[in-house]
Amino acid sequence: MKINLQNLTIEKAHTALLAGEYSAVELAQAYLNVIAEKNADINAYVEVYTDVLEQAKHAEEMFKNGTATILTGIPISVKDNMLVKGKESTGGSDILKGHISIYDGTVIAELKKAGAVLLGRTNMDDSAMGSSTETSCYGPTKNPLALDRVPGGSSGGPVASVAMDGALAAFASDTGGSIRQPAAYTGLVGLKPTYGTVSRYGLMALASSFDQIGPVTKNVADTEILFNATNIYDTMDSTSVPMEKRVCAKTAVKKIGIPRSWVNGEGIEESIKKNFEETCTKLKDAGYELVDIELPLTEHSLAVYYVILPAEASSNLARYDGMRYGLSLPGKDLLDTYKKTRGVGFGKEVRRRIMLGTYVLSHGYYDAYYGSAVKVQNAIRKELANVFEKVDVIMTPTAPTLAFKFGEKMNDPMAMKLSDLFTVPANVAGIPGISIPSGKAENNLVHSIQFMAPHYGENLLFEIGKKCEEILK
Ligand code: GLN
Repeated sequence: MKINLQNLTIEKAHTALLAGEYSAVELAQAYLNVIAEKNADINAYVEVYTDVLEQAKHAEEMFKNGTATILTGIPISVKDNMLVKGKESTGGSDILKGHISIYDGTVIAELKKAGAVLLGRTNMDDSAMGSSTETSCYGPTKNPLALDRVPGGSSGGPVASVAMDGALAAFASDTGGSIRQPAAYTGLVGLKPTYGTVSRYGLMALASSFDQIGPVTKNVADTEILFNATNIYDTMDSTSVPMEKRVCAKTAVKKIGIPRSWVNGEGIEESIKKNFEETCTKLKDAGYELVDIELPLTEHSLAVYYVILPAEASSNLARYDGMRYGLSLPGKDLLDTYKKTRGVGFGKEVRRRIMLGTYVLSHGYYDAYYGSAVKVQNAIRKELANVFEKVDVIMTPTAPTLAFKFGEKMNDPMAMKLSDLFTVPANVAGIPGISIPSGKAENNLVHSIQFMAPHYGENLLFEIGKKCEEILK
């Protein structure tokens, strides 16, 4: 039978699998067929696992013996920076080519336990640094909505795998927007959960105080299912927050905060502003109270982010020294080996950030740069906490532009970084953020808006997100 993958959701697939309309093996095969047909062009997957049908057979067993869960037999793709035992994972970087993971990350282990089918690993910017997936060592990924455009980044592979119907959902990481911005560029839903909820054990560290794993899906209900399945306490992640502390005082969305001057500021495409205003009107008509807010400090999140991120990245990436993982290019002595390996293994943007990070952490500059950035970070957290006394969620566009063309921003690192304007505050403050499609745009692209909620307020995001799916067509 032909399974209609385009309209498929986790709930629908689960109901069909349960009713025996098709089997987990048939479902997995349907996705493998799409991948075989489209991946050579799109480059969403950098590796399709060879044991997909075996995993699907195992899922069928779970249905037979009554242990199936909502995720059993659901075909999911994983970003190339998530460790899957016995499989290669490289973080999109030459420096880790050939690196085989020796354990499963916690999210992967949970997915396996639930009987999900892991289809393969998906493309990403080198070391998760970038907003277009153009810096990957595997070459760029194309945007399935418009093949001449980037899919966003760093999770271009994960979103493209879902947007091309080559996976029902994907897991990815978001350090400054890497789930939400690519989800926006490809018309999908992407969630960056609250810092300390979904375990990062087995995720390659970029900036440990910002990194978060989250889902990419076709609708909000699926995102909710995947978040709930992975929102668990984990002793293997020292930042994992005990379950009883994961509480948000708010229970419903009534007031939506609109940082109008920020949204109307520089560098935001006119069509984005227009869609944002239209979205405001529709939400008002639906009964929400829109409250104008000012976020004078939060508007500086990008500057804070690009001091703290390189600082943390430079120390996290120090482990790739040609000794323990992946690439090793022997030199005349130890220092020469480091230089050769790291010089060749890391791409240009990664080297740029390592140098920047080492500089801001260096003696004499630490207080001026890193120290100041952390102070502003704390002030931003306070500013947002105060605003959340007045409103339930904050709404912004997800990104200041629509998906751009290949090469458009590669030679202008500042322009590339501006893509993260609206997404980095959630990482800087540790709060959750979701990207939701908000209407059709030119060139077959889709507009998107972002909602941010207070810590552990994911349910607010799901509630408003579902409402948006009804009213923003
Ligand atoms: N685009 C951002 C950056 O380049 C976000 C990266 C991420 O979230 N992994 O840092």
